[in-house]
Amino acid sequence: MRPFKHIQASSLEEAASLASREGVMVIAGGTDLLGTLKDECLPWYPNYIVDLKTIPGLDEIREEDGALVIGTLVRLQDIADSELVRTHAQALAEACGRAASPTIRNMGTIGGNICQMHRCWYFRCPDNRFVCARKGGRECYAYKGDNRYHSIFGIQGGCLAASSHDSAPALVALGATVVTTAREIPAEEFFMANGCKSHVLEDGELVKEIRVPKTAASRFEKFALRKSIDFPLVNCAVAEDADGRVRIVLGACYPSPKRMTEAEEAVRGGIDEKSAQAAGDAAVANVMVLSRNEYKVEIARTLVKRTLLRLVSE
Ligand SMILES: Cc1cc2nc3c(=O)[nH]c(=O)nc-3n(C[C@H](O)[C@H](O)[C@H](O)COP(=O)(O)OP(=O)(O)OC[C@H]3O[C@@H](n4cnc5c(N)ncnc54)[C@H](O)[C@@H]3O)c2cc1C
Repeated sequence: MRPFKHIQASSLEEAASLASREGVMVIAGGTDLLGTLKDECLPWYPNYIVDLKTIPGLDEIREEDGALVIGTLVRLQDIADSELVRTHAQALAEACGRAASPTIRNMGTIGGNICQMHRCWYFRCPDNRFVCARKGGRECYAYKGDNRYHSIFGIQGGCLAASSHDSAPALVALGATVVTTAREIPAEEFFMANGCKSHVLEDGELVKEIRVPKTAASRFEKFALRKSIDFPLVNCAVAEDADGRVRIVLGACYPSPKRMTEAEEAVRGGIDEKSAQAAGDAAVANVMVLSRNEYKVEIARTLVKRTLLRLVSE
């Protein structure tokens, strides 16, 4: 790894001001960022790293106005174990509990989880060997190349890499809001391709906390090759809002988590074996599979059905 200067921030405002300068990056748990620096897979390398972990007050979960407020530095394992989150946002607790491994969950933060970069092997290839569409290049190499883990719903911003965060579909299904140093962004709009990033944050804009409306019923399911530690091949979150409408979100199937509105229509009259199957079918009715990822369609169909049935049976 090349050398860089390490600055311990004392406030989020200070960190945001530093992060707006050229050659500066921020670090939380470091489980994602340090790998990209070691591999030198990005087109540029920071001179300074601003450490957010030294900022007080960002590692708490509290209740406020009918919502849970989760600080950006709360670790994934603490969210998975939180009685508050398990009671009022079960899908999020399940998603954080299924991410990565115990070691990474005890280091990785929720802010880092939602801001992590995509896991495409062309994008992450060491020594920045592929200047792909996600980095501003002209080509998405997965289109003709090895696309077994990529999008089954087409392209976003020229890129076919599938989103790889486990918390993201849960936050979208729960109707969460990402509070940054500059604004409040609905989770559904937060996870969009933005150059190398997997979100819409501007330079120097940092995540402060996430507000999650208390939700009586929500569930999360994940399918990965290994149960011990692995990124999702497909994940799915469902949540019932205050009006009784069910939101269904698939992750790892598109460059951002994707709401399945036609599947949501299929369960408008209630969830049972038949409507859950219809929702699964509707979710994958308009896929655009690539040369090596058709197998993900059946997984997505099954996860939608399985997650919905868990919502009404457990
Ligand atoms: C082997 C391995 C397996 C993994 N498996 C999974 C998995 O199954 N599921 C999953 O979801 N993830 C997985 N991850 C990805 C990820 O490392 C973790 O999920 C973790 O939550 C990232 O958090 P962090 O605090 O370590 O982030 P960091 O590495 O510190 O940061 C990640 C990115 O977010 C930015 N960032 C951090 N905090 C903020 C903030 N407050 N505001 C703005 N930007 C910010 C950083 O600049 C950086 O670009 C895995 C990682 C590894 C190495």
